[in-house]
Order: sequence, then structure tokens, then C-alpha cells
Amino acid sequence: MSEPKPTFLHDYRPPAYRVTHTELSFDLEPGATRVKASLHLERHPQREAGSPLMLDGEQLELKSIAIDGQPLDDDEYSLSETGLTVHRVPERFRLDTEVEIAPEENTALEGLYLSNGMYCTQCEAEGFRRITFYPDRPDVMATFSTTVIGDQARLPVLLSNGNPVERGELPNGKHFVTWEDPHPKPCYLFALVGGDLKKVEDRFTTMSGREVALQIWVEEENLGKTGHAMASLKRAMKWDEETYGREYDLDLFMIVAVNDFNMGAMENKGLNIFNSAAVLTHPKTATDVAFQRVESIVAHEYFHNWSGNRVTCRDWFQLSLKEGFTVFRDQCFSADANSAPVKRIEDASFFRTAQFAEDAGPTAHPVRPDHYIEIGNFYTLTIYEKGAEVVRMLCNLVGWETFRRGSDLYFERFDGQAVTIEDFVSCMAEVSGLDLSQFMRWYSQAGTPEIDAYGEYDYANAEYHLTLRQRTPVTPGQADKQPLHIPVRMGLVGTKSGRDLSLNLEGEDLGTAAVIHLREAEQSFVFTDVSEAPVPSLLRGFSAPVQLRFPYSREDLAFLLANDSDGFNRWDAGQRLAMLALDDLIAAHRNGVEKVMDPRIVEAFRALLERGSDDKAVLAEMLTLPSEAYIAEQQPLVDVDAIHAARTFVKQSLAVTLRDEFMALFEANRSDEPYAPEPEQIGARSLKNVALSYLMAIEDEQGIELTQAQFDADHNMTDVRHALTLLTHSSRDELADPALRAFGEKWAHDPLVMDQWFSLQVTRPQADALDRVKFLMAHPAFSMKNPNNIRALIGAFANQNRVNFHRADGESYRLLADVVIELNRLNPEVAARLITPLTRWQRFDEARQGLMKGELERIRAERLSPNVYEVVEKALA
Ligand code: ZN
Repeated sequence: MSEPKPTFLHDYRPPAYRVTHTELSFDLEPGATRVKASLHLERHPQREAGSPLMLDGEQLELKSIAIDGQPLDDDEYSLSETGLTVHRVPERFRLDTEVEIAPEENTALEGLYLSNGMYCTQCEAEGFRRITFYPDRPDVMATFSTTVIGDQARLPVLLSNGNPVERGELPNGKHFVTWEDPHPKPCYLFALVGGDLKKVEDRFTTMSGREVALQIWVEEENLGKTGHAMASLKRAMKWDEETYGREYDLDLFMIVAVNDFNMGAMENKGLNIFNSAAVLTHPKTATDVAFQRVESIVAHEYFHNWSGNRVTCRDWFQLSLKEGFTVFRDQCFSADANSAPVKRIEDASFFRTAQFAEDAGPTAHPVRPDHYIEIGNFYTLTIYEKGAEVVRMLCNLVGWETFRRGSDLYFERFDGQAVTIEDFVSCMAEVSGLDLSQFMRWYSQAGTPEIDAYGEYDYANAEYHLTLRQRTPVTPGQADKQPLHIPVRMGLVGTKSGRDLSLNLEGEDLGTAAVIHLREAEQSFVFTDVSEAPVPSLLRGFSAPVQLRFPYSREDLAFLLANDSDGFNRWDAGQRLAMLALDDLIAAHRNGVEKVMDPRIVEAFRALLERGSDDKAVLAEMLTLPSEAYIAEQQPLVDVDAIHAARTFVKQSLAVTLRDEFMALFEANRSDEPYAPEPEQIGARSLKNVALSYLMAIEDEQGIELTQAQFDADHNMTDVRHALTLLTHSSRDELADPALRAFGEKWAHDPLVMDQWFSLQVTRPQADALDRVKFLMAHPAFSMKNPNNIRALIGAFANQNRVNFHRADGESYRLLADVVIELNRLNPEVAARLITPLTRWQRFDEARQGLMKGELERIRAERLSPNVYEVVEKALA
């Protein structure tokens, strides 16, 4: 394979020819599917006459080609590994091609493939070129008419985008259905499904009174697992009408559940295709977290109908235009449907762990990258989650009402077009009158900005002086960083009153909470009439995706934990406090000194437990220590063993001292109510299960009995899985083994439950974890071809079992590299993603660095897919 070449944003040109209408016909056969395409093409008005026609196409066997009905001679076109060029074409013409493809050999799961005997497609970003020759780029938008032909007995259901307009029987036991999608769309939104599926149906009446049929298509045994997705879909449709004024635009909206899927789901026009893990739920098989994930992904894909489909991206560098905005929309939807503060805590805490790590590593890239080798590698936390944070900042800068007007303007002005991030931001600038030019740097500059804050109270003048200094670290290919426009939401909490003091800044009364704008590298803010000494509460609600440092004392943090009016910062104060204690203990562990628990932390936790909370989910978050991954992110050099030991020590110390309080908390929050994925129940369950974790951290005898009883009661998967995890992660194999066996046998038929069974075993801290991984890879429920299995077994081990993945002998690194090498052939996209933990080698000691790099080099020596090539090259650069 020759070295893959990057594509650059600055090389963008409109396509030489555009497609106005596309007619497709598929004759579905596992080894030889025939695809006929009729493309109605015309020269792009901005492009010169006489350009050759270049179409993308990969792994296609061309059977025939004709222009306006005239077959082409061999010298009139040329074929390569990546496409087809017709040397001379008219200004307007019809191109007919026929190709053959082999869905059953498609293990990359891009294009048309088979999953459990069912045909399905995944075209974003560049999968359509594996279906037929086409200008596979999002700025080519056409109406589609698609005929799907298949065996009537094996494939009774044949679906595509839009509305079914014709169906009929054909010779040889076949039948066909023709679908028409009236909305012009790029080919990445094309979808097709053929299989023996059953549907659950419902209806939605839109705000203008149109009736929409809603269908969820699944394998028969999953018919009972669609209720939550359907309810979520209806809530999302209503929310988008009420919140953004966006109405659905077809008579039919379909969701299909597929077992083998590279990502969560895909927003194909009128025919969303979902990873079964992102749509199927049942109280007995899915946890609260899974229920909430289904709700947010169903909403996300639905919201794309406007932010993505009606208005799409000009090119793939603009990916965050649709993803950042849509994630922001789904986050707000989930916040409205559940506990808003807890949603923000979950999102920010995930972001600070995983996106910060990405931004600090060798694959760091801006929200709008300026080059890529393989766009499939750019479905990242930066594009999605940081992109959403940037949209959230915009919303906070202009205010919701204005943001909504900007959003209306954007949808109206660009409906039916493929546009850029500038187009979106310029709508916000236009409606708000704000100059957002400095703000645009958020899209082009990679790396997590660091803010060092310093404050001083001037008693004599009743002033508070706050100085903020910003700096963005160097990232690969970006040495020079400019100051960003950073909105810092803040308050000053009076140390006497425990209340937010009023903020007077340069003669302006900002009330008790305000957003200050940091634009310079260093900026000072002088607050006047500050009646008592305050503790500043900065970056409330995580108002910008930055790392903020302030020299808080432990007393300051305990004070904020008790008094901050901002729920998010109250939680964050607890995290910071725990981090200070953890830092000491990590140092003690490394120096071989006896570990001593800081009593101030214990007292702060005791106060939390005594005070309780109306929002149980928030309290559960506050009682949860920072994860090992987050702790690692905050250390200059990652010592996984010291981190694990320190965190375990804190947990055990809290459990020993507050044992009765945790027991009481557990008792107060258990319930026999029938399961419902409702915020109050979820909050109570989290709280109860956090309490149980503490009790199990010290293997309290009564705690063990309660855990065992919770497992045996088999009330709902949240409780069962939590109990089984605690047993499996305890030192009591005599308890864990029978429970694991019983669970594994009971659920052997359910792949989504078996994935949970895999994950909870391979994340156990005991030294046998790697052996378990190897053993489970031979389990009949595991397949290298199923991305969910890979993520549940290999991904969970490599990303969540830090002590065992970073074994000093390097055996886990070796296993991961072996899997990557095998997957590089089968499924390059999943392979490339799986390498992530190895790319973080810079953070570890020299011995581990050497081992990790050694494995990366072993991967590099293979014949690599562009996906794996790009990641490995960056990691070793
Ligand atoms: Zn999306």
C-alpha cells in the first residue's frame, strides 16, 4: 500500500459536476449484490467547462457504464483503486452504471454489509463509495429514488429513505419496494435495510397538525425492548418543536436496530440505523445509564434531521458544524428530561477526563481540523464534545433568546444547503451584534486552554482583585497559540454570610452571578464594594472547556462544597478537595511512607451525608471520588499503581469512618417499586449503590450480605449489575465465581447483556484480569467481527482497568497490539480507535514508554489501513 495522502481544508473546491437526482436499484445477494445507478448530472456553475467527471468508488466491480444511454468504450474512462474518471462528458447528462459488491465479505461495516443475516448500510463519512460510483462528498445533494429487490422469504422487509411508493412481486420468489426521498441529500445520508424484521409502530402529530408514522424495526425477540426508545423519540420530536421550532418533514420516521455497528447510531434521512445497544432497553437487561444513553442518542439522531440533514456540511472539515451543535442540542434535551445539574456534572466530568486527554496527546486536533488522512478517525471527543462546548459558549455569550433567533436564521437561510462553520457563527454574530472574530479561534486552535487564576481581597478598600492568565499548550503542528475569548461564569461567595455577594465591576452592577470575558493573555478584574472576604467560585457550570487552577486551600474548598450556590461548582469543590488529598497519598505511596487520611476530607464527606440533598443524583456524584483516569490526567507522570492505591485508601478510610452513615444511606434509598427509568428513581438507585460501593470497599460483612441479596433479588439490571460488579471486584472469588457463572448462563442468549458480563469481569483489579481477557476472547458470545464485543471486552480492559493494562511486563500492551493488527484487516475504523491508550505513552515512566512504543512499532511494521496508519504515525511522530 502506498503512503496515504492527507486532504487539506484549504484545497476545497466545489465539485465539477453535481447530481440533481439519483436512481438506484439493488438486487440483494450476500456474495454478489448488483447495484444499478442512474445519476442525473450537470456541470457546477462555478466550475470551468470540459472538466473530466471523477467519481469515488472502492471495492466495486464495474459491469457496465453508459452516458445518455450510450455504452462507453474502454478508452473513454479509466478505473483506479479509488474511483472512476470519464474523460469527456456533456454539460448535462445521465450516467448509468452497474456494479457488483459482496456484502457478506464486508467486515469493515462501511457501505452495504450483512449483520445477523440482515442487510444494512453505514455511509457516513465515505461509505457510499463502496456501494456505487458517485461524487461521495457532502456538498453534492440529490433527490433519491431507490428500488430494493430481495428474496421474499428471507428478506420480507426492504427499507430505504423517504416514503415507499411502489412494491410488487418478481419471479424466483423475489419482491421489490421502491422508495422516494423528496429532500435533496448528500449520499452519506443514504440508507438501505433488508431483513426479516418486525416493527413497533406509533404516531406523532406535529405542531402544524401533520401525522407522522413512527416505526422501530427489530429482530422478533427484541420487540419487547423498544418502548423506551419510542417514548424518547416522541419526547425529542416535541422538544425540538417547542425549543427550536423545528418540525419533522416526512410522513414516516424509522429506526432500525443492528447488532454489528461501528458507532452509536446514524441519522440517515427518515431511516435512522442504530447500534442495538443504543436503542434496545428492558429493566431486566439494561442499566439506568443505558436507558439514559438510549434517550440521548435517539434524540441526537432525530435532531440531526435539521442540524445535519436539512442543513449539512460543505466538507468533512466542517463535521463539528452538525455534530457539535447536535450534541449541544441533545445535552440540553437530556438536561430538561432529567436532573439538569447532574447531566452537566456527568458531561463535564467525562469531558475533563477523556477530551482533555485527547487534547493533550499526539492526536490532538482543532474542532475544525485543517487536514486529515482518514476522516473516519475524526469522529472524536474534540469534534463532538468540544464542538458542543463551543456552541454552548456561544449560547451563553449571546443569551438563549438571541441564540434561538440565530438558530432560526441559520435554518432558514441555509435550508437545503451544505455550509460551513463560519455560516453558523455569522448568524449568531448577525443577530447579537457581537464581534465573534476572536471567538473563531476556538475552532482552529487545538489544546486545552489553561487558566491560572489568582485573587486578593483588599479589606481597606473593600475590593476583590481577580487576575486571570490564559495559555494554550503547544499541540502537534501548532506551536503558536493566540489568546481565546473565554466566558468565565463566576460568583464571589462571602465567607461570613455563605452567600453570593453582589458583583460590581468597573462601576457596573452585575448582580450576584456574572460572566466575565477573558480575552487577553492576562487580565485583571477589580470588584468594588465587596463587603466581606470572599472565596471566588469560578467557571460555574463549566462555562468554558478549560483547565482552571486557583490556589484554593482545603478550607476554601470545604467552604465552597457547603455553600456555593452553583451545584456544579459545589460538586467540583468536592472533587478538588479529594484531589488534594489524593495527591498527598500518591506521593506517600511513591515514597514508601505510611498513608494518612486527611481528616478534613472525612469531615467534608460527613457533612455531605448529614446535609443530604433534594437531588439524590447530585449527591451521588458528590460522594463519588474522581476516577483513576481523571486523577491520572492531573498528574505530571502517571503512576497507575500509586493512583489505584491512593484512591482505594481514600475510599476505604471514608468507609471505615462513615460506615454507619453509608449503611443508613443505603437503607434509606432502597425500594421495591417497579422499575422506571425516572430521574427520582435513578437518583435514589445511584445513591444507594454508591453507599454499597463504600461498604464493599472494606468488605463489610453486612455489606457483602446486602450485595449478595441485591444480586439474588434480580429486581433490575442496574442493581444486579452493580452488585455483580462489586462481588467480582472484591477479593472474594468464592462469592464472585458462582454469581458470574449464574449470570453468564442466564443471559447467554442476549448479546447486550453478555457485553456487560464481559466488561465487568475484565475491569476487575485483581492480577488475573489479563488472563480473563484472553479466556473470554474464546467465549462463544465473543466475536472479533462485532464492534460491541470488542469495546466491551478489549476496550473496557484497556481503558478502564488501568492497573492491569499497564502491567509492568507489557503483556497487556502486547495483547492490545495483537488485536489491533487483526482488526486492521477486518475493521480499520474500530482498529484505529482501539489504539488510543497506547498513543498516550508520553505520560508514563520510561520502561512503560519503551514497551508501548515497541508495540506501536510492531503495528507500524504491518500493511496498514489508512485509519491505523494515521493514528500510529501521529503516536510515533
Ligand atoms: Zn451526530
